Amino acid sequence: MMRSGASYLAGLEDRRTVWLGTEQVDSVVRSPAFRNAAQSFARLYDLNRQSQWQSVLTCQDAQSDVRHSRAFLIPRSYADLVSKREAHKRWAEESFGFLGRSPDYMASGLAGFAARPDVFAGGSFDGSANVLALYQRAMEQDLFTAFTITNPKIDKTRSLAQQGALDDIGVRAVRETDAGIFVSGAKTIGTAAIFADEIIVGTIEPLPADDVDYALSFVVSPATPGVSLISRTSYESLARSAEDNPLSHRFDESDALLVLDEAFIPWERVLTYRDVQRTFAMWWDTPAYTNMAHQASTRFWTKLEFLAGLATLVCDSNGSTGNPQVRGQLGRLLGYVQLAKSTVLGAEAGFETRPEDGGAVRLNQEITYAQRVLAGELYPKFIHELRMLCGGALTHLPESVHDLDHPGIGPMLRRHLRSSQQSAEARIRLMKLVWDATGSEFASRHAHYEQFYQGAPHVYLAQMTFTGLPEQYSRFASQAFAAMEKQGADT
Ligand SMILES: Cc1cc2nc3c(=O)[nH]c(=O)nc-3n(C[C@H](O)[C@H](O)[C@H](O)COP(=O)(O)OP(=O)(O)OC[C@H]3O[C@@H](n4cnc5c(N)ncnc54)[C@H](O)[C@@H]3O)c2cc1C
Repeated sequence: MMRSGASYLAGLEDRRTVWLGTEQVDSVVRSPAFRNAAQSFARLYDLNRQSQWQSVLTCQDAQSDVRHSRAFLIPRSYADLVSKREAHKRWAEESFGFLGRSPDYMASGLAGFAARPDVFAGGSFDGSANVLALYQRAMEQDLFTAFTITNPKIDKTRSLAQQGALDDIGVRAVRETDAGIFVSGAKTIGTAAIFADEIIVGTIEPLPADDVDYALSFVVSPATPGVSLISRTSYESLARSAEDNPLSHRFDESDALLVLDEAFIPWERVLTYRDVQRTFAMWWDTPAYTNMAHQASTRFWTKLEFLAGLATLVCDSNGSTGNPQVRGQLGRLLGYVQLAKSTVLGAEAGFETRPEDGGAVRLNQEITYAQRVLAGELYPKFIHELRMLCGGALTHLPESVHDLDHPGIGPMLRRHLRSSQQSAEARIRLMKLVWDATGSEFASRHAHYEQFYQGAPHVYLAQMTFTGLPEQYSRFASQAFAAMEKQGADT
């Protein structure tokens, strides 16, 4: 039987140390800052149990016969990739693409690790059995795993080791015993970490050789003594009501700083240890990254579909849909959505098989990397275009939809804020939704998320040049150039 939302929520009541401002949060399930987002994640678990979605969202494990979330499937064919995308799409539709870190994100990453346990073996520490055990446990218990794989940037000119001489910054083992390691230090940023059952701690960027003390990865439960999660401002807390801030009210997945203070990690939970090469390779030599990007690109496409839908509703509300210029503006947005879709379908169709992947397939790497270029640059533009279609209607909104019921201002609002196409109430509700998606603090964080969650632009743009494409294209251009020169000489 698949895990229920209620069982997921019960698991969060584990006395984890979560800070919001200077207050320690008693329970993320009951806190007014987090409870609605927790419910939104719980709904995804319940969706997996609904009979009409079971065949899309879950599948049978070939070896154990256990039914599990399809996110854990190691894709071995194009058909598997398509089935995984259909599941990612359905989950993303539940939050209109606004839950970036639904549980299927890292579940797909774990499937990527499990496809290549050899990447975790071979050095001074062999984490291959641990990674397979983690994958099996997460799949069987349908665990929600978050990850913190970015080091705090205090002095970018020096390695962590050089900075550590002054202050403990990165995460490292401060003590070793026969049973495991005690770890201290910090990682940024744990999106949805406060809602997760487990957190993968590691480093996705290449570390210099002198950072070997910081070259480790492991999985930790947020309730482990010595683990603190310091949340940013909760937009759920700031939401006035479900009607006034429909998105931030439900889908603020939170971002947190992870601080470890001598937290104990048993050896069975360690994946790489004192190994610069393997700590990096686990993300890039396994299909983990492309698997996670499958969720990310599908979610991004879904989010743009939703935003394009809002744009159409706004134009209908404004009575401007028939205007040729407005049609052009709408057409641009619809075109952008198709570009986002094409990165998903194209990366699937151009899937790659590699001898070392043992039968697993991965999305086309070049298209997957290109999706980051597109998404990072497109999202702010998309939001801008949608706001342009709204005009001032986004800003002359009353404090609350419920002000319409006030005997004093209600009649004035109803009279002056309607459009020829729509009642004031319907229009205010629509515009408040659009503001939450495009102009609120929640919206601003989303724009930042789409530009940074897959790494800083200077990193992922440069990564395009490590794909072999520059060599391939320059060869083409050189040959074409030589052929033109020859033609010129022959004529
Ligand atoms: C909303 C959000 C959610 C996130 N969630 C997670 C998560 O769940 N888990 C996780 O591990 N990480 C997460 N991240 C972190 C994310 O992975 C990092 O923000 C990202 O890798 C960029 O690193 P940085 O923030 O240290 O940026 P930096 O590397 O400091 O870059 C910031 C800017 O500095 C400039 N810059 C810095 N170095 C250079 C250089 N060498 N060359 C040129 N320009 C440079 C560029 O203008 C760059 O855009 C999240 C980030 C955001 C914004």
